[in-house]
Amino acid sequence: MQDTIDTDAPQSEMASQAYLKQLKATFEQLPNDIALYLFTAKGHEDAFTHGNRQVVRAFRELSARITLREFDLDHELAKKYNITSSPTLLIAPERYSIRWLGAPLGEEARTFLEILILVGLGQSHLSDQSLNVIKKIDSPRNIKVFVSPTCPYCPQQAVNAVKAAVEMPEYISLEIVDIQSQPELALQYAAQSVPQAFANDVLIGQGAQPEEVFILSLQKLEPQTIFIPDSDAELVETDLVVIGGGPAGLTAGIYAVRSGLRTAVVEREALGGQVATTPIVENYPGFTSVGGKTLVDIMVSHALQYVQIFQGEAVVDVQAGNPISVLTNRRKFLTKAVLFATGATHRHLGVPGESRLSGRGVSYCSTCDGPLFRGKKVVMVGGGNSAVTEALHLFHMGVDVTLIHRRDKLRAQEFLAKQLVDNNIPVLWNTEIKEIRGEKRVEEILLKNQKTGETSPFKTDGVFIAIGYTPAVELAKKLGLEINADGYIKHDGRHRTNVPGIYSGGDVEGGYKQIVTASGQGAEAAMTIFEDLINPYWLNEN
Ligand code: NAP
Repeated sequence: MQDTIDTDAPQSEMASQAYLKQLKATFEQLPNDIALYLFTAKGHEDAFTHGNRQVVRAFRELSARITLREFDLDHELAKKYNITSSPTLLIAPERYSIRWLGAPLGEEARTFLEILILVGLGQSHLSDQSLNVIKKIDSPRNIKVFVSPTCPYCPQQAVNAVKAAVEMPEYISLEIVDIQSQPELALQYAAQSVPQAFANDVLIGQGAQPEEVFILSLQKLEPQTIFIPDSDAELVETDLVVIGGGPAGLTAGIYAVRSGLRTAVVEREALGGQVATTPIVENYPGFTSVGGKTLVDIMVSHALQYVQIFQGEAVVDVQAGNPISVLTNRRKFLTKAVLFATGATHRHLGVPGESRLSGRGVSYCSTCDGPLFRGKKVVMVGGGNSAVTEALHLFHMGVDVTLIHRRDKLRAQEFLAKQLVDNNIPVLWNTEIKEIRGEKRVEEILLKNQKTGETSPFKTDGVFIAIGYTPAVELAKKLGLEINADGYIKHDGRHRTNVPGIYSGGDVEGGYKQIVTASGQGAEAAMTIFEDLINPYWLNEN
């Protein structure tokens, strides 16, 4: 590891050297040693054992505080800690009960870094709101969080659980389970969609939750959807609050701050919106083809140079006025303007069995859940760019995928459609799913041929759905924003809604729904807001 930065190196290399130097300095200041115990059995998931060694070695180069000891699965310590599977990594077992089944690879390296810092600090870094709730826990909670290295939502949920385990080691134990290394355990819990969190074997959270919502679910031992803070003492004053951290929101954040507006971007889930889970994005200018998550990482690091991002924080209410108040599950913002860049959420088929088996073989994210279906049979529903891109992604991952489309012609671009043919991916044309069946997980679907009217069962292990998006307008409706006939926020062509000071941008407005158009709408909206705040149009109206 280098201590100095090589100024002759290319800029990206210099940035990563500087980052490593900063990380090393952070680790130097940690007050506690971090002991790692790796338990392995030769011949069992050797690739994950190897992955573990590599990741740990990389982190050990940052600090002598991190030590690794390796034991066979038949060592007496394995009995002491009740370890039965290989590889299992224990983190600071003398102080905490945190274990990793599998290896912290891919996206999960972010979780691992956070664990090392929190354990090294000996502090959970939970918010005051979360601390108020977690204090009420007075009996053991054994948490399992199912994750996968390709899931961008997973680190947020895993870190929530780590914080809980660090805050209350006397009651809270944690297992982070990598579904690729532990497919049997994932099947046993029917955790076919990640992240999924269980406490004492009760499902407490599907998907990434804001920290306070996770802690409340953990305390109540049932999934919660909303957290209303005990008090709204934490107050932030800004010129603009952007709701949504997808391409529109991030671009608006950059433009607004560069115009001189104090701006906050609030995002309840993973940054990047739909793009974060798109396997491959084609033809975003500057990139012939780029991974969705890679593009998001580039956008987020760019945005962070300007704008403060409040991630994992859900806006629960917006009250018009002067100032406008925006209430999240953590704090209150007082602001002069609000931009709705809330994007859109996955459209559902609306057939029997879909919601019951969601996360049990029904999935809306092939990047997150695809690896669990390697070597298995799945269907991908839809005929647009998303369905075809994701079917190709599953195919290349080794999943036996069949595309199901309700018409006899794809909506997807010709370039993508041709790749289906080139790879011999079967397509069931003029076919609709009428029902998804299975007791604990998806076992079969009932198909209807639109032309003949015939119905027939079709055996499958998974149903991936990519049939477009529904705009996320719940909050906008609550505030009284006008919605057009197609369900999108209505605006005046310059992104002003019917409520003064409230604007819209991106997929929530409808239109072409490309990343590049969403970014453009975000930029335009920020420029309109800047002009309006200098010269409020609503004051000029007679
Ligand atoms: P989309 O283009 O709206 O396509 C949705 C597909 O789902 C259509 O084929 C539609 O069938 C089908 N569908 C809708 N409701 C259905 C239902 N109830 N049952 C069965 N099928 C149903 O959505 P998308 O593919 O998610 O794409 C969204 C936007 O993102 C598009 O503008 C797309 O171009 C863009 N995108 C771009 C890229 C890229 O790399 N450039 C990648 C992915 C997405 P019909 O055809 O019969 O209407």
